[in-house]
Amino acid sequence: MDTPTEALHRVFGYDSFRAGQQEIIDHVVEGGDALVLMPTGGGKSLCYQIPALVRPGVGVVVSPLIALMQDQVDALTALGVRAGFLNSTQDFDERQRVEAAFLAGELDLLYLAPERLRVEATLRLLAKGEISLFAIDEAHCVSQWGHDFRPDYLALSELHERWPEVPRIALTATATPATHAEIASRLRLEKARHFVASFDRPNIHYRITTKNEPKRQLLDFLRAEHPGDAGIVYCLSRSSVEKIAAYLVDNGIAAVPYHAGLDNRTRAAHQARFLREDGLIVVATIAFGMGIDKPDVRFVAHLDLPKSVEGYYQETGRAGRDGLPATAWMAYGLHDVVQHRRLAMEGDDAHRRRQVLHLDAMLALCETVECRRVMLLDYFGQEHSKPCGNCDTCQAPPESWDGTVPAQKVLSTVLRLRRERGQKFGVGQIADILLGKKTAKVLQHGHDSLSVFGVGADLGNTEWHGVVRQLLAQGLLAVESDYGALVLTDASAEVLRGQREVRLRRDAPRTARAKTAAKDRPVVELPAAAEPVFERLRAWRAATAKEQGVPAYVIFHDATLREIATLSPSTLAELGTVSGVGENKLAKYGDQVLETLAS
Ligand code: ADP
Ligand code: ZN
Repeated sequence: MDTPTEALHRVFGYDSFRAGQQEIIDHVVEGGDALVLMPTGGGKSLCYQIPALVRPGVGVVVSPLIALMQDQVDALTALGVRAGFLNSTQDFDERQRVEAAFLAGELDLLYLAPERLRVEATLRLLAKGEISLFAIDEAHCVSQWGHDFRPDYLALSELHERWPEVPRIALTATATPATHAEIASRLRLEKARHFVASFDRPNIHYRITTKNEPKRQLLDFLRAEHPGDAGIVYCLSRSSVEKIAAYLVDNGIAAVPYHAGLDNRTRAAHQARFLREDGLIVVATIAFGMGIDKPDVRFVAHLDLPKSVEGYYQETGRAGRDGLPATAWMAYGLHDVVQHRRLAMEGDDAHRRRQVLHLDAMLALCETVECRRVMLLDYFGQEHSKPCGNCDTCQAPPESWDGTVPAQKVLSTVLRLRRERGQKFGVGQIADILLGKKTAKVLQHGHDSLSVFGVGADLGNTEWHGVVRQLLAQGLLAVESDYGALVLTDASAEVLRGQREVRLRRDAPRTARAKTAAKDRPVVELPAAAEPVFERLRAWRAATAKEQGVPAYVIFHDATLREIATLSPSTLAELGTVSGVGENKLAKYGDQVLETLAS
């Protein structure tokens, strides 16, 4: 048997453990229970895979991600780890084969869908074999209040009663203290050791820009910063998913849609293409993504505001799992605030309160003039004392300005319309009144005779929209009704009376594109000479992956190929020193890689 460090080198080909991994692994190897909170891409899998290799018996992994089990097993098999899975997609023969392997002690890891554990036959099967540990992946699925609740997860509390001596390790990337506590109590892990890793993802560059022409902005972003890269674009609705995917394809960018309205087969096919092909974009609703552990997702783009910071962090966390630079980009505008403020008003009181808290936190992140990362980590209760230098606000600090007077102009227009005319209007009409525009709608309502007509000519239309957006974000204005009519809030009065100063953020001008920011980022550049070598290796990898019917990253990650291209090893021994080249892959692909390098 290997020690954990030996398994890390020999099987996975990695030089060292990442933060937190070693302590967790040692604890589980010694038979302790663990609850692990680690951000997406932090390296949770090794925390149960290595103990399963080191301890006698089979590691049983409970995972809700049935569609991904085959890929997970393929990736382990490529490393020389003996793995199998049991779920409802298999036929009888396949299941029999896996069960026989389990009983014969010929597996290191067995992946199980949670509903399998409700089947008495599965429990009987497990009782007949030797189990090294139970790993409960995506453990937040046990939380009834979370967004991924799976009833089958509730039954997992019984594992402890049936197998009291088998260590259990529960893992999740959902970090809020409330979810954390709920997982511990529902899975009976109160006595387990809790490991909370840093939630920082330093290789992700965060950027939130003001939305004006979303499609165009997305296209510019992709062309300038991520040509040919794989990534995910999140949209709120199915119809915008379809539209954006079609728009990208029309513009020569490989993209496929993914949402709950597509039939199962199309969804599965698009997911499989995303995992297998290099450089494909998936345009999706949030139905897409859980458990997608494709390491080389180079960007996650949001064209609509996520409902909560938790959601935002989970979605953006899918970028850059391989540790190479990646971008979390979002376009956000007035319409998002209006729409979300309205959505947040649905449901019962408790639900509403929760929604509003989530939304306020999300809006504060969008409107901040401070470092985004500091704010994100603070939200998760973690300190990051100095500005990160790898987010938009750090790189181009936005100005904040005293917007009290413009705010008073907006609020007093809303007030006058209500008091003097008994009317409510949306932002378009408010801006037209302030700008003194005699549009048909202004004349029709006689709004040119209001005392505030034309008092806002010092700002442009876009700026007025920006002011209204920020007032909404700060709760100094509210929206009512489906068409976005603006109304005052309790806090508005303080501003109108001059008792409260309003700080606003100066939005970047329309033309300012992100290219400059991209240049400042710490990119792991390939030396010029290595560039064609890297491309040759990629081509070899693509051909090999296709031949074997597995995703390219199962052969080698981009990071590994880059290192090989840079080092240009001439012997197998030298190649074996590269991170990501373990014993099995060296034996299987070593000669081919050296040939590709020599060609
Ligand atoms: P999570 O499940 O926490 O989202 P994964 O377990 O998928 O993350 O790991 C993310 C990526 O980091 C994977 O590609 C994995 O191979 C890699 N990785 C994990 N641990 C290490 C390590 N110690 N050294 C190098 N790479 C690692
Ligand atoms: Zn920053």
